[in-house]
Amino acid sequence: MQEYELIIVGGGPAGLAAAISARENGIERLLILERDYELGGILNQCIHNGFGLHTFKEELTGPEYAQRFIDQVFEKNIPYKLNTMVLEIEACGDEKMVTAINKEDGLMRLKTKSVILAMGCRERPRGALNIPGYRPAGIYTAGTAQRLVNMEGLMPGREVVILGSGDIGLIMARRMTLEGAKVKVVAELLPYSGGLQRNIVQCLEDFDIPLKLSHTVVEVHGKERVTGVTLAEVDENRRPIPGTEEFYSCDTLLLSCGLIPENELSVKAGIELSNITSGPVVNESLETNIKGIFACGNVLHVHDLVDYVSEEAKKAGQQAAAFLQEKESDKKEKTIIIQPEGGIRYTVPQKIRTESMEENLTVRFRVGKVYENVYVNVYLGDKQIIHKKRKKMAPGEMEQIILKKSDLTQELKFDKIIMKLEEA
Ligand SMILES: Cc1cc2nc3c(=O)[nH]c(=O)nc-3n(C[C@H](O)[C@H](O)[C@H](O)COP(=O)(O)OP(=O)(O)OC[C@H]3O[C@@H](n4cnc5c(N)ncnc54)[C@H](O)[C@@H]3O)c2cc1C
Repeated sequence: MQEYELIIVGGGPAGLAAAISARENGIERLLILERDYELGGILNQCIHNGFGLHTFKEELTGPEYAQRFIDQVFEKNIPYKLNTMVLEIEACGDEKMVTAINKEDGLMRLKTKSVILAMGCRERPRGALNIPGYRPAGIYTAGTAQRLVNMEGLMPGREVVILGSGDIGLIMARRMTLEGAKVKVVAELLPYSGGLQRNIVQCLEDFDIPLKLSHTVVEVHGKERVTGVTLAEVDENRRPIPGTEEFYSCDTLLLSCGLIPENELSVKAGIELSNITSGPVVNESLETNIKGIFACGNVLHVHDLVDYVSEEAKKAGQQAAAFLQEKESDKKEKTIIIQPEGGIRYTVPQKIRTESMEENLTVRFRVGKVYENVYVNVYLGDKQIIHKKRKKMAPGEMEQIILKKSDLTQELKFDKIIMKLEEA
Protein backbone atom coordinates (compact mmCIF):
# COMPACT_ATOMS: atom_id res chain seq x y z
CA MET A 1 0.00 0.00 0.00
CA GLN A 2 1.29 3.46 -0.93
CA GLU A 3 1.83 5.74 2.05
CA TYR A 4 1.88 9.54 2.14
CA GLU A 5 2.22 12.30 4.68
CA LEU A 6 -0.34 14.47 2.90
CA ILE A 7 -2.96 13.88 0.20
CA ILE A 8 -4.64 16.87 -1.42
CA VAL A 9 -8.04 16.21 -2.97
CA GLY A 10 -8.55 18.54 -5.95
CA GLY A 11 -6.03 20.19 -8.28
CA GLY A 12 -7.74 23.58 -8.65
CA PRO A 13 -6.20 26.82 -7.36
CA ALA A 14 -6.82 25.76 -3.74
CA GLY A 15 -5.23 22.32 -4.13
CA LEU A 16 -2.25 23.72 -6.07
CA ALA A 17 -1.46 26.52 -3.57
CA ALA A 18 -1.90 24.14 -0.63
CA ALA A 19 0.50 21.60 -2.18
CA ILE A 20 3.14 24.25 -2.98
CA SER A 21 2.98 25.65 0.53
CA ALA A 22 3.16 22.20 2.17
CA ARG A 23 6.24 21.38 0.07
CA GLU A 24 7.83 24.76 0.94
CA ASN A 25 7.24 23.90 4.58
CA GLY A 26 9.16 20.64 4.29
CA ILE A 27 6.57 18.00 3.33
CA GLU A 28 8.13 15.50 0.91
CA ARG A 29 5.63 12.66 0.55
CA LEU A 30 2.57 14.43 -0.76
CA LEU A 31 0.20 13.78 -3.66
CA ILE A 32 -2.47 15.80 -5.49
CA LEU A 33 -5.46 13.81 -6.79
CA GLU A 34 -7.52 15.49 -9.53
CA ARG A 35 -10.55 14.01 -11.30
CA ASP A 36 -10.25 16.20 -14.42
CA TYR A 37 -7.76 15.63 -17.27
CA GLU A 38 -5.70 18.71 -16.31
CA LEU A 39 -4.73 20.77 -13.27
CA GLY A 40 -6.25 24.23 -12.72
CA GLY A 41 -9.85 23.50 -11.69
CA ILE A 42 -12.62 25.90 -12.65
CA LEU A 43 -10.03 28.48 -13.79
CA ASN A 44 -9.48 26.55 -17.03
CA GLN A 45 -12.90 27.63 -18.29
CA CYS A 46 -12.65 31.23 -17.00
CA ILE A 47 -10.92 32.79 -20.00
CA HIS A 48 -11.94 36.34 -19.03
CA ASN A 49 -9.41 38.50 -17.22
CA GLY A 50 -9.66 39.88 -13.70
CA PHE A 51 -7.75 37.18 -11.83
CA GLY A 52 -4.73 37.79 -9.63
CA LEU A 53 -5.02 41.52 -8.95
CA HIS A 54 -4.16 41.00 -5.27
CA THR A 55 -1.62 38.16 -5.64
CA PHE A 56 0.34 39.28 -8.71
CA LYS A 57 -0.83 42.92 -9.06
CA GLU A 58 -1.70 41.99 -12.64
CA GLU A 59 -4.93 41.20 -14.46
CA LEU A 60 -4.62 37.63 -15.64
CA THR A 61 -7.09 35.25 -17.27
CA GLY A 62 -8.12 32.17 -15.28
CA PRO A 63 -5.81 29.77 -17.19
CA GLU A 64 -2.88 32.25 -16.88
CA TYR A 65 -3.42 32.50 -13.13
CA ALA A 66 -3.63 28.71 -12.78
CA GLN A 67 -0.49 28.25 -14.90
CA ARG A 68 1.61 30.28 -12.44
CA PHE A 69 0.77 27.71 -9.76
CA ILE A 70 1.01 24.69 -12.08
CA ASP A 71 4.57 25.82 -13.03
CA GLN A 72 5.54 25.83 -9.35
CA VAL A 73 4.06 22.34 -8.90
CA PHE A 74 6.30 21.18 -11.79
CA GLU A 75 9.38 23.04 -10.47
CA LYS A 76 8.95 21.52 -7.03
CA ASN A 77 8.34 18.05 -8.47
CA ILE A 78 5.10 17.69 -6.59
CA PRO A 79 3.46 14.44 -7.70
CA TYR A 80 -0.11 14.46 -8.95
CA LYS A 81 -2.51 12.04 -10.58
CA LEU A 82 -5.03 13.27 -13.17
CA ASN A 83 -8.30 11.60 -14.22
CA THR A 84 -8.38 10.29 -10.68
CA MET A 85 -11.60 10.43 -8.73
CA VAL A 86 -11.42 10.30 -4.96
CA LEU A 87 -14.28 8.11 -3.78
CA GLU A 88 -13.84 8.05 -0.03
CA ILE A 89 -11.81 9.43 2.84
CA GLU A 90 -11.79 7.46 6.08
CA ALA A 91 -10.25 8.58 9.33
CA CYS A 92 -8.96 5.67 11.40
CA GLY A 93 -7.24 7.13 14.44
CA ASP A 94 -4.05 8.92 13.43
CA GLU A 95 -4.10 7.40 9.93
CA LYS A 96 -6.39 8.36 7.08
CA MET A 97 -7.31 6.14 4.16
CA VAL A 98 -8.10 7.68 0.77
CA THR A 99 -9.87 5.51 -1.82
CA ALA A 100 -9.48 6.72 -5.41
CA ILE A 101 -9.89 5.30 -8.91
CA ASN A 102 -8.35 5.86 -12.34
CA LYS A 103 -7.80 3.90 -15.55
CA GLU A 104 -4.08 3.14 -15.02
CA ASP A 105 -4.04 2.19 -11.35
CA GLY A 106 -7.61 0.94 -10.97
CA LEU A 107 -9.00 1.19 -7.44
CA MET A 108 -6.36 2.55 -5.04
CA ARG A 109 -6.27 2.57 -1.25
CA LEU A 110 -3.78 5.21 -0.16
CA LYS A 111 -2.65 5.62 3.43
CA THR A 112 -1.88 9.13 4.63
CA LYS A 113 -1.34 11.04 7.86
CA SER A 114 -3.18 14.15 6.72
CA VAL A 115 -5.57 15.35 4.02
CA ILE A 116 -6.40 18.76 2.57
CA LEU A 117 -9.89 19.01 1.11
CA ALA A 118 -9.83 21.25 -1.99
CA MET A 119 -12.71 19.88 -4.08
CA GLY A 120 -14.25 23.25 -5.00
CA CYS A 121 -17.99 23.68 -5.44
CA ARG A 122 -20.72 22.92 -7.96
CA GLU A 123 -23.70 24.81 -9.32
CA ARG A 124 -27.20 24.45 -7.97
CA PRO A 125 -29.02 22.54 -10.74
CA ARG A 126 -32.45 23.22 -12.18
CA GLY A 127 -33.99 20.32 -10.23
CA ALA A 128 -33.26 22.20 -7.01
CA LEU A 129 -35.03 25.32 -8.27
CA ASN A 130 -38.60 24.11 -8.78
CA ILE A 131 -39.33 26.00 -12.01
CA PRO A 132 -42.62 24.74 -13.43
CA GLY A 133 -43.01 23.68 -17.07
CA TYR A 134 -41.71 20.97 -19.42
CA ARG A 135 -38.09 19.95 -19.47
CA PRO A 136 -37.10 20.95 -23.01
CA ALA A 137 -33.53 21.13 -24.34
CA GLY A 138 -31.85 24.51 -23.97
CA ILE A 139 -31.61 24.80 -20.19
CA TYR A 140 -28.06 24.84 -18.85
CA THR A 141 -26.29 25.93 -15.72
CA ALA A 142 -24.16 28.98 -16.52
CA GLY A 143 -20.97 27.07 -15.65
CA THR A 144 -21.82 24.24 -18.06
CA ALA A 145 -22.48 26.82 -20.79
CA GLN A 146 -19.14 28.45 -19.93
CA ARG A 147 -17.32 25.16 -20.34
CA LEU A 148 -19.12 24.45 -23.65
CA VAL A 149 -18.27 27.87 -25.11
CA ASN A 150 -14.76 28.36 -23.72
CA MET A 151 -13.37 24.82 -23.73
CA GLU A 152 -15.40 22.77 -26.22
CA GLY A 153 -16.09 25.52 -28.78
CA LEU A 154 -19.88 24.95 -28.73
CA MET A 155 -22.60 27.63 -28.57
CA PRO A 156 -25.51 26.54 -26.39
CA GLY A 157 -27.98 28.93 -28.13
CA ARG A 158 -28.63 32.29 -29.79
CA GLU A 159 -31.34 34.03 -27.74
CA VAL A 160 -30.67 33.82 -24.06
CA VAL A 161 -32.37 34.58 -20.75
CA ILE A 162 -30.28 34.20 -17.60
CA LEU A 163 -31.81 33.44 -14.22
CA GLY A 164 -29.59 34.47 -11.31
CA SER A 165 -27.11 37.32 -11.15
CA GLY A 166 -24.23 35.53 -9.44
CA ASP A 167 -20.81 36.13 -10.98
CA ILE A 168 -21.00 33.19 -13.37
CA GLY A 169 -24.36 34.43 -14.71
CA LEU A 170 -23.00 37.95 -15.21
CA ILE A 171 -19.82 36.72 -16.88
CA MET A 172 -21.80 34.44 -19.18
CA ALA A 173 -24.11 37.32 -20.16
CA ARG A 174 -21.05 39.13 -21.53
CA ARG A 175 -19.48 35.99 -23.00
CA MET A 176 -22.61 34.95 -24.91
CA THR A 177 -22.99 38.53 -26.21
CA LEU A 178 -19.38 38.60 -27.41
CA GLU A 179 -19.99 35.28 -29.19
CA GLY A 180 -22.94 36.81 -31.10
CA ALA A 181 -25.91 35.70 -28.98
CA LYS A 182 -28.62 38.12 -27.84
CA VAL A 183 -28.92 38.13 -24.06
CA LYS A 184 -32.40 39.50 -23.47
CA VAL A 185 -32.43 39.87 -19.73
CA VAL A 186 -30.85 38.71 -16.47
CA ALA A 187 -33.52 38.03 -13.82
CA GLU A 188 -32.66 37.91 -10.13
CA LEU A 189 -35.01 36.62 -7.42
CA LEU A 190 -33.47 38.78 -4.71
CA PRO A 191 -33.69 42.58 -4.52
CA TYR A 192 -29.91 42.79 -5.06
CA SER A 193 -27.38 41.02 -7.27
CA GLY A 194 -25.32 38.16 -5.82
CA GLY A 195 -22.36 39.13 -8.02
CA LEU A 196 -19.46 41.52 -7.66
CA GLN A 197 -20.26 45.18 -8.44
CA ARG A 198 -17.46 45.27 -11.01
CA ASN A 199 -19.10 42.39 -12.90
CA ILE A 200 -22.49 44.15 -12.96
CA VAL A 201 -20.85 47.16 -14.61
CA GLN A 202 -18.46 45.34 -16.96
CA CYS A 203 -20.74 42.46 -17.97
CA LEU A 204 -24.26 43.98 -18.03
CA GLU A 205 -24.21 47.77 -18.06
CA ASP A 206 -21.41 48.00 -20.66
CA PHE A 207 -23.52 45.80 -22.98
CA ASP A 208 -26.94 47.31 -22.18
CA ILE A 209 -28.22 44.01 -20.82
CA PRO A 210 -31.15 44.66 -18.46
CA LEU A 211 -31.01 43.30 -14.90
CA LYS A 212 -34.44 42.68 -13.37
CA LEU A 213 -34.14 42.42 -9.60
CA SER A 214 -36.92 40.72 -7.57
CA HIS A 215 -37.94 38.69 -10.65
CA THR A 216 -38.04 35.00 -11.35
CA VAL A 217 -38.96 32.54 -14.10
CA VAL A 218 -42.51 31.33 -13.54
CA GLU A 219 -42.87 29.30 -16.73
CA VAL A 220 -40.61 27.68 -19.29
CA HIS A 221 -42.23 27.37 -22.74
CA GLY A 222 -41.44 24.79 -25.43
CA LYS A 223 -41.60 21.00 -25.56
CA GLU A 224 -38.59 19.86 -27.57
CA ARG A 225 -36.52 23.04 -27.17
CA VAL A 226 -37.05 26.16 -25.07
CA THR A 227 -39.11 28.72 -27.04
CA GLY A 228 -39.43 31.31 -24.29
CA VAL A 229 -39.79 31.95 -20.59
CA THR A 230 -42.27 33.96 -18.54
CA LEU A 231 -40.79 36.18 -15.85
CA ALA A 232 -42.76 37.69 -12.97
CA GLU A 233 -41.94 40.10 -10.21
CA VAL A 234 -41.81 38.62 -6.69
CA ASP A 235 -42.95 40.07 -3.38
CA GLU A 236 -40.83 40.28 -0.21
CA ASN A 237 -41.60 36.60 0.48
CA ARG A 238 -40.25 35.75 -2.98
CA ARG A 239 -43.73 34.79 -4.25
CA PRO A 240 -44.63 35.81 -7.84
CA ILE A 241 -47.00 38.80 -7.99
CA PRO A 242 -50.01 37.99 -10.26
CA GLY A 243 -50.36 40.42 -13.16
CA THR A 244 -46.61 41.17 -13.45
CA GLU A 245 -45.88 38.33 -15.91
CA GLU A 246 -43.83 39.15 -19.03
CA PHE A 247 -42.99 36.74 -21.86
CA TYR A 248 -39.46 36.64 -23.32
CA SER A 249 -38.88 34.55 -26.43
CA CYS A 250 -35.55 32.69 -26.25
CA ASP A 251 -33.99 29.34 -27.15
CA THR A 252 -31.76 29.11 -24.07
CA LEU A 253 -32.17 29.58 -20.34
CA LEU A 254 -28.98 29.76 -18.29
CA LEU A 255 -29.20 29.19 -14.56
CA SER A 256 -26.79 30.91 -12.22
CA CYS A 257 -28.50 30.26 -8.93
CA GLY A 258 -25.75 29.68 -6.47
CA LEU A 259 -22.88 27.37 -5.76
CA ILE A 260 -22.67 24.56 -3.21
CA PRO A 261 -19.40 23.17 -1.80
CA GLU A 262 -18.64 19.64 -3.09
CA ASN A 263 -18.98 17.99 0.25
CA GLU A 264 -20.06 14.38 -0.30
CA LEU A 265 -16.58 13.17 0.70
CA SER A 266 -16.60 15.35 3.81
CA VAL A 267 -20.02 14.06 4.89
CA LYS A 268 -18.96 10.44 4.43
CA ALA A 269 -15.77 11.08 6.40
CA GLY A 270 -17.81 12.36 9.36
CA ILE A 271 -16.68 15.97 9.06
CA GLU A 272 -18.88 18.53 10.79
CA LEU A 273 -20.45 20.91 8.25
CA SER A 274 -21.82 24.41 8.71
CA ASN A 275 -25.55 24.81 7.93
CA ILE A 276 -24.83 28.19 6.37
CA THR A 277 -21.74 27.61 4.21
CA SER A 278 -22.38 23.86 3.62
CA GLY A 279 -18.61 23.54 4.02
CA PRO A 280 -16.67 22.15 6.99
CA VAL A 281 -16.57 23.96 10.32
CA VAL A 282 -12.90 24.83 10.86
CA ASN A 283 -10.65 26.33 13.51
CA GLU A 284 -7.98 29.03 13.08
CA SER A 285 -5.70 26.45 11.38
CA LEU A 286 -8.42 25.57 8.83
CA GLU A 287 -8.55 22.15 10.48
CA THR A 288 -11.90 20.34 10.55
CA ASN A 289 -13.25 18.44 13.56
CA ILE A 290 -11.11 15.48 12.40
CA LYS A 291 -7.50 16.03 13.40
CA GLY A 292 -5.24 16.15 10.39
CA ILE A 293 -8.01 16.93 7.85
CA PHE A 294 -7.88 20.53 6.63
CA ALA A 295 -10.09 22.40 4.12
CA CYS A 296 -9.60 25.43 1.87
CA GLY A 297 -11.03 27.16 -1.19
CA ASN A 298 -14.58 26.80 -2.45
CA VAL A 299 -15.13 23.49 -0.68
CA LEU A 300 -14.83 25.41 2.58
CA HIS A 301 -16.97 28.40 1.59
CA VAL A 302 -17.73 29.94 -1.79
CA HIS A 303 -15.17 32.63 -2.69
CA ASP A 304 -15.60 35.43 -5.19
CA LEU A 305 -11.90 36.13 -5.74
CA VAL A 306 -9.35 33.45 -6.48
CA ASP A 307 -6.63 35.48 -4.70
CA TYR A 308 -8.32 34.74 -1.38
CA VAL A 309 -8.57 31.06 -2.32
CA SER A 310 -4.81 30.93 -2.90
CA GLU A 311 -4.10 32.81 0.34
CA GLU A 312 -6.34 30.49 2.36
CA ALA A 313 -4.88 27.39 0.69
CA LYS A 314 -1.32 28.55 1.42
CA LYS A 315 -2.27 28.64 5.06
CA ALA A 316 -3.89 25.17 4.89
CA GLY A 317 -0.60 23.84 3.46
CA GLN A 318 1.43 25.49 6.24
CA GLN A 319 -0.88 24.19 8.93
CA ALA A 320 -0.89 20.65 7.53
CA ALA A 321 2.92 20.78 7.55
CA ALA A 322 2.94 22.04 11.15
CA PHE A 323 0.58 19.21 12.10
CA LEU A 324 2.84 16.63 10.44
CA GLN A 325 5.96 18.05 12.06
CA GLU A 326 4.13 18.08 15.39
CA LYS A 327 4.76 21.77 15.81
CA GLU A 328 1.13 21.99 16.81
CA SER A 329 0.74 21.56 20.53
CA ASP A 330 -1.44 18.66 21.61
CA LYS A 331 -2.35 20.13 24.94
CA LYS A 332 -6.01 20.96 25.64
CA GLU A 333 -6.40 24.54 24.54
CA LYS A 334 -9.19 26.94 25.17
CA THR A 335 -11.45 27.27 22.14
CA ILE A 336 -13.49 30.39 21.46
CA ILE A 337 -16.52 30.24 19.16
CA ILE A 338 -17.14 33.16 16.77
CA GLN A 339 -20.87 33.83 16.91
CA PRO A 340 -22.19 35.81 13.92
CA GLU A 341 -25.19 38.01 14.70
CA GLY A 342 -27.12 41.02 13.36
CA GLY A 343 -26.65 40.74 9.62
CA ILE A 344 -23.49 38.60 9.51
CA ARG A 345 -24.36 35.22 8.01
CA TYR A 346 -21.21 33.26 8.77
CA THR A 347 -17.53 33.51 9.54
CA VAL A 348 -14.57 31.33 8.57
CA PRO A 349 -13.01 30.17 10.82
CA GLN A 350 -15.93 29.47 13.10
CA LYS A 351 -13.74 28.75 16.14
CA ILE A 352 -10.33 29.73 17.43
CA ARG A 353 -7.82 28.05 19.73
CA THR A 354 -6.46 31.20 21.30
CA GLU A 355 -2.95 29.91 22.03
CA SER A 356 -2.40 28.38 18.60
CA MET A 357 -3.62 31.37 16.63
CA GLU A 358 -1.20 33.68 14.83
CA GLU A 359 -0.86 37.29 16.06
CA ASN A 360 -3.15 38.60 13.31
CA LEU A 361 -5.89 36.19 12.29
CA THR A 362 -7.94 36.94 9.16
CA VAL A 363 -11.61 36.16 9.68
CA ARG A 364 -13.67 36.12 6.47
CA PHE A 365 -17.41 36.62 6.46
CA ARG A 366 -20.48 37.47 4.39
CA VAL A 367 -23.51 39.58 5.17
CA GLY A 368 -27.15 38.62 4.51
CA LYS A 369 -28.30 41.70 2.56
CA VAL A 370 -27.07 45.06 1.31
CA TYR A 371 -25.98 47.45 4.10
CA GLU A 372 -24.77 51.04 3.88
CA ASN A 373 -22.74 52.97 6.47
CA VAL A 374 -22.65 50.27 9.11
CA TYR A 375 -20.03 49.23 11.64
CA VAL A 376 -18.60 45.75 12.02
CA ASN A 377 -18.35 45.36 15.77
CA VAL A 378 -16.67 42.51 17.60
CA TYR A 379 -17.28 41.92 21.31
CA LEU A 380 -15.66 39.78 23.98
CA GLY A 381 -18.30 39.95 26.69
CA ASP A 382 -19.10 43.66 27.02
CA LYS A 383 -15.74 44.74 25.69
CA GLN A 384 -15.68 45.95 22.09
CA ILE A 385 -12.44 44.77 20.47
CA ILE A 386 -13.17 45.79 16.86
CA HIS A 387 -15.19 48.73 15.52
CA LYS A 388 -14.79 49.21 11.76
CA LYS A 389 -16.93 51.32 9.48
CA ARG A 390 -18.01 49.97 6.08
CA LYS A 391 -19.61 52.27 3.52
CA LYS A 392 -21.34 49.46 1.67
CA MET A 393 -21.59 45.73 2.18
CA ALA A 394 -23.35 43.23 -0.09
CA PRO A 395 -23.89 39.46 0.07
CA GLY A 396 -21.91 39.00 -3.16
CA GLU A 397 -18.70 40.43 -1.71
CA MET A 398 -16.66 38.49 0.82
CA GLU A 399 -15.49 40.65 3.73
CA GLN A 400 -12.70 40.27 6.25
CA ILE A 401 -11.47 41.59 9.58
CA ILE A 402 -8.27 40.93 11.48
CA LEU A 403 -8.49 39.57 15.03
CA LYS A 404 -5.47 40.18 17.28
CA LYS A 405 -4.25 37.37 19.50
CA SER A 406 -3.35 39.83 22.25
CA ASP A 407 -7.00 41.01 22.39
CA LEU A 408 -8.23 37.46 22.92
CA THR A 409 -5.65 36.05 25.31
CA GLN A 410 -6.11 38.92 27.77
CA GLU A 411 -9.74 37.95 28.36
CA LEU A 412 -9.59 34.22 28.81
CA LYS A 413 -12.82 33.99 30.78
CA PHE A 414 -14.95 34.29 27.64
CA ASP A 415 -15.80 31.33 25.44
CA LYS A 416 -17.30 33.23 22.53
CA ILE A 417 -16.77 36.32 20.44
CA ILE A 418 -19.84 38.07 19.09
CA MET A 419 -19.50 39.64 15.66
CA LYS A 420 -22.32 41.85 14.41
CA LEU A 421 -23.30 44.79 12.24
CA GLU A 422 -24.51 47.90 14.05
CA GLU A 423 -25.47 51.42 13.06
CA ALA A 424 -22.85 53.04 15.28
C1 LIG B 1 -17.45 31.31 -13.67
C2 LIG B 1 -16.51 31.80 -12.61
C3 LIG B 1 -15.93 33.03 -12.78
C4 LIG B 1 -15.02 33.51 -11.84
N1 LIG B 1 -14.43 34.72 -12.04
C5 LIG B 1 -13.46 35.14 -11.18
C6 LIG B 1 -12.73 36.36 -11.44
O1 LIG B 1 -12.99 37.07 -12.40
N2 LIG B 1 -11.75 36.69 -10.57
C7 LIG B 1 -11.45 35.92 -9.50
O2 LIG B 1 -10.52 36.25 -8.76
N3 LIG B 1 -12.14 34.78 -9.23
C8 LIG B 1 -13.14 34.36 -10.03
N4 LIG B 1 -13.82 33.19 -9.78
C9 LIG B 1 -13.57 32.48 -8.53
C10 LIG B 1 -12.43 31.46 -8.57
O3 LIG B 1 -12.27 30.95 -9.85
C11 LIG B 1 -12.76 30.32 -7.62
O4 LIG B 1 -13.01 30.87 -6.37
C12 LIG B 1 -11.61 29.31 -7.52
O5 LIG B 1 -11.37 28.73 -8.78
C13 LIG B 1 -11.93 28.18 -6.52
O6 LIG B 1 -10.83 27.32 -6.43
P1 LIG B 1 -10.94 25.86 -5.81
O7 LIG B 1 -9.62 25.21 -6.02
O8 LIG B 1 -11.49 25.93 -4.45
O9 LIG B 1 -12.05 25.13 -6.67
P2 LIG B 1 -12.03 24.60 -8.19
O10 LIG B 1 -11.35 25.54 -9.10
O11 LIG B 1 -13.44 24.24 -8.50
O12 LIG B 1 -11.16 23.27 -8.10
C14 LIG B 1 -11.60 22.10 -7.44
C15 LIG B 1 -10.98 20.90 -8.11
O13 LIG B 1 -11.27 19.74 -7.35
C16 LIG B 1 -11.52 18.68 -8.26
N5 LIG B 1 -12.32 17.66 -7.56
C17 LIG B 1 -13.55 17.81 -6.99
N6 LIG B 1 -13.96 16.64 -6.42
C18 LIG B 1 -12.98 15.75 -6.64
C19 LIG B 1 -12.82 14.37 -6.30
N7 LIG B 1 -13.77 13.67 -5.63
N8 LIG B 1 -11.68 13.74 -6.67
C20 LIG B 1 -10.71 14.42 -7.33
N9 LIG B 1 -10.80 15.72 -7.70
C21 LIG B 1 -11.92 16.38 -7.35
C22 LIG B 1 -12.27 19.36 -9.39
O14 LIG B 1 -12.21 18.59 -10.59
C23 LIG B 1 -11.53 20.67 -9.52
O15 LIG B 1 -10.46 20.62 -10.43
C24 LIG B 1 -14.72 32.71 -10.71
C25 LIG B 1 -15.34 31.46 -10.54
C26 LIG B 1 -16.23 31.01 -11.48
C27 LIG B 1 -16.89 29.66 -11.27
